Amino acid sequence: MPHYDADVLIVGAGPAGAWAARQLARGGASVRLIDASHPREKPCGGGLTARSVTMAADVLARVPHVAVERVRFESPPVGRDPYPPAPRTPPSVTVDVPGADAGGPTSPLVVVSRLAFDRALVDNAREAGADLIPERAVDVHADGDGVWVTTRHRRWRGRYLVGADGANSLVRRRLHQPFPASHWSLATGDFAAGSSSREIVIRFVRTPPGYLWSFPRTDHLAIGICAPADRGSAPVLRQHLDRWLAVRDIARGCRMTPYSWPIPSLPVQAWADGVPVGERWLLAGDAAGLVDPLTREGIYYALRSGELAAQSLLGAGPEPTQAYAGAVQAELVSELARSARARGTFFSPLVTRLWIDVLRESPRVRSLALRVVIGTVGYYHLRRQAVASLEPGAALRVARAQVARYLRIAP
Ligand SMILES: Cc1cc2nc3c(=O)[nH]c(=O)nc-3n(C[C@H](O)[C@H](O)[C@H](O)COP(=O)(O)OP(=O)(O)OC[C@H]3O[C@@H](n4cnc5c(N)ncnc54)[C@H](O)[C@@H]3O)c2cc1C
Repeated sequence: MPHYDADVLIVGAGPAGAWAARQLARGGASVRLIDASHPREKPCGGGLTARSVTMAADVLARVPHVAVERVRFESPPVGRDPYPPAPRTPPSVTVDVPGADAGGPTSPLVVVSRLAFDRALVDNAREAGADLIPERAVDVHADGDGVWVTTRHRRWRGRYLVGADGANSLVRRRLHQPFPASHWSLATGDFAAGSSSREIVIRFVRTPPGYLWSFPRTDHLAIGICAPADRGSAPVLRQHLDRWLAVRDIARGCRMTPYSWPIPSLPVQAWADGVPVGERWLLAGDAAGLVDPLTREGIYYALRSGELAAQSLLGAGPEPTQAYAGAVQAELVSELARSARARGTFFSPLVTRLWIDVLRESPRVRSLALRVVIGTVGYYHLRRQAVASLEPGAALRVARAQVARYLRIAP
């Protein structure tokens, strides 16, 4: 009989690993959660949409967070300097988020510091009975009877392994294969200490195709830009960021802490074989590539894949890792694949400008867009539903504006 240190070894205590640990421990499994990094800030906007807010409501109740009141979208002007100096302003629209002024965790859109949120998730997992091993995994190995994880001080034996060690996952690299270059986005930005607000600002970028953001935390702003890694280098992204901050006067006088970090952003074809698993191991969260390739939202997918991992491993089925792969494919991959398809045309300035016109003109489409922003409607449904919702008068005004712009008699 092999000896096991735990039913499940989990490498990585971000949202995916900590949430899997909590659910497994609550279900009666013995769990070792291996991660040396806490407490730490993770390069991230820290934006949580409604699904994450609902799932992690009890954790959020202990974590300081900003309840977002407004989201402002900006589009680059078509065919002109993308960052014209004041007094010219970019085409923009502001969508109000209802119910946010209550400030409670039931707000549909909140922003957290990952230092506080991830620490609370780990505390929660420990309270449920998971054992935190504050060490870094340096090697992993799987055989027919179980898995080994080597840390600096010893080797750990488990029945199953959850690889939840983020974008550069060691578990993925050792037991499967690394992401190829075309599967990455690059994000770079700053934490700007000394400023806050209740407004998220999103600014679409034409080249490279991506977006800039400012997310308000309780005592700082998380500011950044992301784009496909094979379309723009960190210095190019930085240049966009610096110009935007200068013309928008965001973060003036703040103490800036820069960061750069990769984000898996998988194309549709990457999902052809489903999420990678072995007989004794599975991957969750970023390690599995479960990030929306258009918005780069990953926290929800990390939490949910951690939960699906726990359910499968606690289940009585003969092949729990296969059950996990099936559940992830049916629920999450189908959604991410639709986003990957939408990404091709989304960042064209003609498209983003058209959206801004439609949102300005149509209260019905604005209310639909709000549901997209808070994550209760997938934006791949947006185009179809927007066309169905658009009031005839609004459609006419948008069409007029488009024609005027085409004839260059309007900005
Ligand atoms: C700049 C940026 C902005 C983003 N903004 C948002 C946003 O606003 N909203 C959103 O939903 N998503 C956002 N994302 C994506 C989100 O940050 C990730 O999808 C999410 O953190 C994934 O969670 P995870 O648990 O899979 O991995 P992570 O959060 O990366 O956690 C992995 C953990 O594993 C640990 N680890 C790594 N290697 C080892 C090892 N060898 N041994 C032990 N431990 C190890 C790490 O220390 C870390 O604690 C953003 C990403 C970036 C880069």
